[in-house]
Amino acid sequence: MKKQKLSLPARISANPAVSSQHRRTIECMSAEVHTLPPVTLTDHDALLVIDMQDDFVSPTGSLSVPGGEGIVPGINALAAHFTHVILTQDWHPAGHISLASTHGLKPFTDTVQAPYGIQHLWPDHCLQGSPGAELYSALSIPHAELILRKGFRRDIDSYSAFTENDRTTTTGLAAYLQARGLHRLFFCGLAYDYCVGFSAIAAAQLGFDTWVIEDLCRGIATASIEATNKTFADLNVRRISSEEVLALEPYAR
Ligand SMILES: [Zn+2]
Repeated sequence: MKKQKLSLPARISANPAVSSQHRRTIECMSAEVHTLPPVTLTDHDALLVIDMQDDFVSPTGSLSVPGGEGIVPGINALAAHFTHVILTQDWHPAGHISLASTHGLKPFTDTVQAPYGIQHLWPDHCLQGSPGAELYSALSIPHAELILRKGFRRDIDSYSAFTENDRTTTTGLAAYLQARGLHRLFFCGLAYDYCVGFSAIAAAQLGFDTWVIEDLCRGIATASIEATNKTFADLNVRRISSEEVLALEPYAR
C-alpha cells in the first residue's frame, strides 16, 4: 500500500469526541504510516454539501466565493467515506426577491425590506436551468442520495437548507433526515457565513448533532464569519477538520 504522511492537527488532542484509540493511531502518523485511521461513520451520519454550484464555485461565477474551487477535491475525497450524502442547489426563478436586478438596485450593498425582514441583494445567480445553477463540473459524488433545491419561491430567499428566510417555510429536509434515521450531520460547501452557516444553525436548533467541516468551506466576509462562529458556539455546532471527521467515535444516541 502506498505510504502517506499526515500531520497531526493541533485540535485533535483537545477534542473529546476523538477516541483515545484513534488519537493514538493519528499520533503514530508523525512518522510514515501505511493506513488511514479507521472510519467510524455509521448509517446515522450524513454529509451535506451546500451549494457547490458553478455560480458560487467557479472563479468566473456570478457570485463566486473566493477559494471555492480549492475545496472541491477535499469534498470529493471525504464524501467517498460517507454512505449518505446530500447536495443542495440554490435554485431561483427569474424575478426572485434576492436578485438586485429584480428591484433595479445594486448587489452587495443595497437591501430591500421583505415581509420577513431585511433581504440582502445579490447579482443574478443560480437561475433555474441556467449553466450557473449546475453543480460544479469537478464535483464528483455519484452516490449522493438527494439533491435538495431551495430558494425557488419567488418571494422568499432561503439560505438554510431547512427553513427559508421567513423562518417558518420548511424545505422538508428535517423530516427526510429524521425519517431516514440520519441524526449526525456534517456540513461543508459555500458559503460558510451564509448557506452553510444558516443550514448548520437550523440543524442544531432542530436537534441534530451538527458539525461543520471548516477546511471544506469558504466564507465571504470577516464580520459575518465571526458572527456565524459565535452562533455556532452558542448552539453547540461543532467545528472540525476533514481529517478529524474520520477519527470520531461512532455515533450513539
Ligand atoms: Zn441565492
